Amino acid sequence: MAFPQIHFVEGAQVTDLLANDDKSRVTGVQLRSRHTQDEQTRAADFIVDATGRGSKTPEWLQALGYAAPRESAINSFQGYATRWYKRPEHLKLDWKALIVSTKPPTMSRGGGIYPIENDQWIVTIGGVNKDFPPNDDAGFMEFARTLRSPLLAEVLQHAEPISPVYGYQRTENHLRHYEELGAMPEGIVVVGDAVCAFNPVYGQGMTAAAMGAMVLDKCLQQGVNSAISLRFQKALAKSNETAWLMATGEDFRWPNTEGKRPQVNMATRFVQRYMDYITELIVDEPVILTAFYQVAHLLKSPAALFQPAIFARVLRKALSDRMRGKAHDRPIGQPPTAQTHEENVLAT
Ligand SMILES: Cc1cc2nc3c(=O)[nH]c(=O)nc-3n(C[C@H](O)[C@H](O)[C@H](O)COP(=O)(O)OP(=O)(O)OC[C@H]3O[C@@H](n4cnc5c(N)ncnc54)[C@H](O)[C@@H]3O)c2cc1C
Repeated sequence: MAFPQIHFVEGAQVTDLLANDDKSRVTGVQLRSRHTQDEQTRAADFIVDATGRGSKTPEWLQALGYAAPRESAINSFQGYATRWYKRPEHLKLDWKALIVSTKPPTMSRGGGIYPIENDQWIVTIGGVNKDFPPNDDAGFMEFARTLRSPLLAEVLQHAEPISPVYGYQRTENHLRHYEELGAMPEGIVVVGDAVCAFNPVYGQGMTAAAMGAMVLDKCLQQGVNSAISLRFQKALAKSNETAWLMATGEDFRWPNTEGKRPQVNMATRFVQRYMDYITELIVDEPVILTAFYQVAHLLKSPAALFQPAIFARVLRKALSDRMRGKAHDRPIGQPPTAQTHEENVLAT
């Protein structure tokens, strides 16, 4: 708002694209006021569609005579419920945040306690394959008791809830392949969730959208010529690739996930097993935890988790587990053992 050349039109919805006579260039947008329903048009040299998951650009492109992009949808039917609590003052805890992880392919419930401002906690619990946590008081607690560690539910018994339970279940990963289009009109690009929307549990969407904005900046610096739309969409697809593979790769570890499955080969199995060890090791090893979050937050490439020191640590753990003949999976419903508790709770 500090830039004088930027103007906001509030309370208005874009309802269509305007184009020149031969439809080779988008020349503006049609707007409808949310209050009065009045329609108006607005001319534009260049349009950036940042309207999120519900973007209508595919339909608008078709209306102009272009093909709509192919769409990929991958859904593990994950749902979660979140509630705020007052942090119990009297409780002496040796951690600030607590994560009880899921474990594909069988243990699909997880949760976390995260500290926020004013000595409060945000508590989130969730499940996969439509195993959604209830939104009511008793149901929320009952679900919390079935996690792989009893710690989260035990601690919550001492905490005072200060909000209702908010549920969220729209976690499908959705990708529109604009990069594959043979033609797009000039003067329009599509960014953010309007192109690639992730399962929000992995927390990548805002970072991926911001990285997309940087890609657009670079493209614009190279000049706004006739090829910019497709050039940008191809560059954006590359920028989104890692986050998409991480989110969908994780979701495909659940057997009932819907969507076109990539082939599972030895390399995939190796990476999945490797990541299982990583998620166990981060409980005790700050260096691995830091690398894990740098990768999860898109600050570093996944290769960071395969650097020699971490690789050697994983190898050592794999060998010692094998020698101990360890088995630590526990189906939902069975009480957690001291071992599952130790290995799957990240208290940091
Ligand atoms: C429950 C939930 C939790 C999330 N948690 C995280 C997280 O922890 N970390 C993270 O990085 N990401 C998270 N995300 C993802 C993140 O919110 C999105 O990736 C990000 O907001 C995408 O930004 P965007 O600008 O592309 O789209 P949006 O933020 O969806 O913005 C689109 C905007 O366009 C407006 N709009 C839509 N249609 C029109 C129209 N026709 N005319 C005019 N305006 C229109 C909408 O009102 C909206 O304001 C979460 C998402 C959800 C749903």
